[in-house]
Amino acid sequence: MRAPERVRNWIDGAWSDPRDGRALPVVEPATGIAFTELARSGAPDVESAHAAAHGAFPAWASRPATERAEMLDRLASLVERDLERLAWLESVDTGKPLSLARAVDIPRAAANLRFFAESVRTWEPDRELSAPHCASRVIRRPVGVAGCISPWNLPLYLFTWKVAPALAAGCTVVAKPSEETPLTAAALAELSGEAGFPRGVLNVVHGLGAECGAAIVAHPGIPVISFTGGTSTGERIMSVAGPMFKTTAMELGGKNPTIVFADADFDAAVDGALNAAFRNQGQICLCGSRILVDRAAYARFRDAFVARAAALRVGDPLEPSTEQGSLVSQAHRAKVAAAVERARSEGGRVLCGGRAPSPDELPGRVRGGAFWMPTVIEGLPMGCATNQEEIFGPVVTLQPFDGEDDAVAQANDSAYGLAASVWTADRARAMRVAERLECGIVWINAWMLRDLRVPFGGAKRSGLGREGGEDALRLFTEPKSISWPA
Ligand code: NDP
Repeated sequence: MRAPERVRNWIDGAWSDPRDGRALPVVEPATGIAFTELARSGAPDVESAHAAAHGAFPAWASRPATERAEMLDRLASLVERDLERLAWLESVDTGKPLSLARAVDIPRAAANLRFFAESVRTWEPDRELSAPHCASRVIRRPVGVAGCISPWNLPLYLFTWKVAPALAAGCTVVAKPSEETPLTAAALAELSGEAGFPRGVLNVVHGLGAECGAAIVAHPGIPVISFTGGTSTGERIMSVAGPMFKTTAMELGGKNPTIVFADADFDAAVDGALNAAFRNQGQICLCGSRILVDRAAYARFRDAFVARAAALRVGDPLEPSTEQGSLVSQAHRAKVAAAVERARSEGGRVLCGGRAPSPDELPGRVRGGAFWMPTVIEGLPMGCATNQEEIFGPVVTLQPFDGEDDAVAQANDSAYGLAASVWTADRARAMRVAERLECGIVWINAWMLRDLRVPFGGAKRSGLGREGGEDALRLFTEPKSISWPA
């Protein structure tokens, strides 16, 4: 399989180069070798994309929802048809195991498209209300051109999670994937043409966040911004979008607790915590990076968990046996390495990992890659930087707790509030703890268990607004109430 020679913008149903012809290299993180180049777009390119989206909006918004849904279903079928190619592109672009892209990222992208197609078919956005003195009708209509900005960790999965509800709701879209991982968004854009989407409905512009992303956020003709990424980027976006009174959904970082009670099914809890810690090399906003364990079970859990973490197979993402691929870039690996050094300086004991693999631990093709060994650290207080700041890599801490109140207090001792998982055989306790946790999502005896209808998003510094289900359709529509005397 091959990547395109150049990743170009998709504007008004056709490929285009940035106006000033600039480009960026795209590097395969598992090898460190640049394999294609990317359009480095700026404000004039966003302007062209907006013009196309603005022109396409009236006709797209006034199509019956069932027709928009049909096109999303067609696009989902094309994603399924091209699963192997898309999974390969995703793996080469991100460094994640091909097996993961094939089993999770691409099927979920197709599922997102199908889910929002079905959601809009059954959604009844308009309501009639009556009071003794007045009758009302509340209608919701698509807001216009939506700006969708997505990160590098789950590229097509998160790109479709934004673009699908926007299109389903009747918005047209100007979208920017991360410049680190642009390939599958570009492939999807082309497939949208094959699926029969009218020109200008979906526009994809590539480039740096500070140039191309910032131009989308600042564009006065883009009234809604759906963003997934880091909390500090979210702050910058809000400082521009807020004074412009744009509607925003901010899906930001996390420092999620995994809470293991002594009565939990031991093997299931070790499995679940391991998965939550290291899936996608720990580069998922939902990853459980602070593992809190009942003191009564702490030593046994720690030993089993560390043995499993140390046994994870790190290697070439394209090899079927690989469990841990590369991090997304050398720059990101340097950040992870610095975080581990900081943990050591804070007094943390590194129980496994804590280093990049040595060259003889890797096959020849990937010796220049951005790999990092799964790392488990203990002995740190909850208030230290390691336990407070998102690392977004295969690095987790272990800490004991004494009783339910202490578990909840430690879990809530964070500026973030995205997700948590609770492992216990006691259903009543699980529910009590879930209610007390300051976060948007709680799993009981599970991790990343998703029903796409439930609201998705975080509290505190993990975000603002919710995506998923009707919340996403509401994001891209504006309510209007019309009242008259009864
Ligand atoms: P970033 O915040 O660096 O980037 C996210 C996107 O925003 C990229 O497309 C980026 O472009 C763009 N961007 C950067 N600066 C600006 C700007 N000033 N204006 C507009 N757009 C901008 O996040 P990462 O890509 O590094 O992703 C990792 C982060 O995402 C982690 O913090 C993680 O927790 C969070 N995340 C949250 C999820 C959630 O649902 N809550 C899910 C997944 C990840 P470019 O890359 O080209 O610079």
